[in-house]
Amino acid sequence: MGVAVPGWLDVPAGKILKAANLPCWSNYPLAQKLHEAYGLPVRMENDASAAAAAEGRWGSAGRFHNFFYVSLGTGIGTGIVHRDERGNLQIISSEGGHMSIDYRGPLCPCGKRGCVEMYASGKALARGAKSLLAQRRLKNSPLAQLARRTSGGLNAELIGRAAARGERVAVQVVDEAVERLTVWLGNVIDLLEPEAIVFGGGLGRLMFSYAPQMRRRLQTLASHPRGSQVRIIQAQFGSQSALLGAAALWSRNGSQHGS
Ligand SMILES: [Zn+2]
Repeated sequence: MGVAVPGWLDVPAGKILKAANLPCWSNYPLAQKLHEAYGLPVRMENDASAAAAAEGRWGSAGRFHNFFYVSLGTGIGTGIVHRDERGNLQIISSEGGHMSIDYRGPLCPCGKRGCVEMYASGKALARGAKSLLAQRRLKNSPLAQLARRTSGGLNAELIGRAAARGERVAVQVVDEAVERLTVWLGNVIDLLEPEAIVFGGGLGRLMFSYAPQMRRRLQTLASHPRGSQVRIIQAQFGSQSALLGAAALWSRNGSQHGS
């Protein structure tokens, strides 16, 4: 079995050390539990790292020697990928969504303040819209009316579509998320100097549609003189990337894990 799970892992021990959005799994021996239940050998990897491996092997990042993969969904996952001279992928597991961009920012479930996940994930978009719509002057805005008509409230997909239609409140929410995400990407570019940044996950397509705006802002938000020229591309497998990544753990020349 190949398993892709969110959080900080001890891969050789098959353990989930901690997962910000799954507090019940702390120091949890998932690989062993699955082995006991199914009687099969189990390999596991961080979900975004597995997705990055799939994109590097079979997907849209196949031509790059090194790239930074961003999974945008409920949270923000990351994978750092390097391809060696023989074409083997080295994956460095990381939970880059928990890099803080404001130490006084809102408290993240991981225990830190101002993680980028608190500003630019699906959850963050929904929260941002909710807090704006709580203002009395926006009570009758088209987005507020949409929220009232939608059972379960607004989600990131609806907000993204409303922003694409030019609805003012939705545009404001998405613009804020894009700006915060770009601040973080500027830091990532200055730290890793990747050839490309790959957007995957359920919100990857939405955020990718703002790539021209991000490139413009990266002229200021990355110090690297070529920071704004780093390629920003869309994942080929979208929200299926992690599934393919789990399969990649058992394919020949499977990616090698680093930490
Ligand atoms: Zn966090």
